[in-house]
Amino acid sequence: MASNSSTATTKTASAKNSKKATATKTKPTSRAVVRLIEAGSMVDCIHCDTQVKFRARQRDQQVICNVYDKGVWKRVEHYHLDCYTEADKPYGKPAEKA
Ligand SMILES: [Zn+2]
Repeated sequence: MASNSSTATTKTASAKNSKKATATKTKPTSRAVVRLIEAGSMVDCIHCDTQVKFRARQRDQQVICNVYDKGVWKRVEHYHLDCYTEADKPYGKPAEKA
């Protein structure tokens, strides 16, 4: 049995170059934003342990930080704007929000 082994290995180079490694696993990280202190604010600054108090006409600013640990949200921390700077910006430069 002369098997006609015509194994023409048709290498159809399948154009499957779909190896676009878009492995952008962007885990949420802690971030800080600057906000105006609103009337009725009842939070304490985590740095100086003093209330982040709204004062009419002062338009004081606070820094609100969403703290994540390994991509899991943990807590919100509040700072006076000055305290945040004093604390050496633990969560990076706070983003200004209009
Ligand atoms: Zn403070």
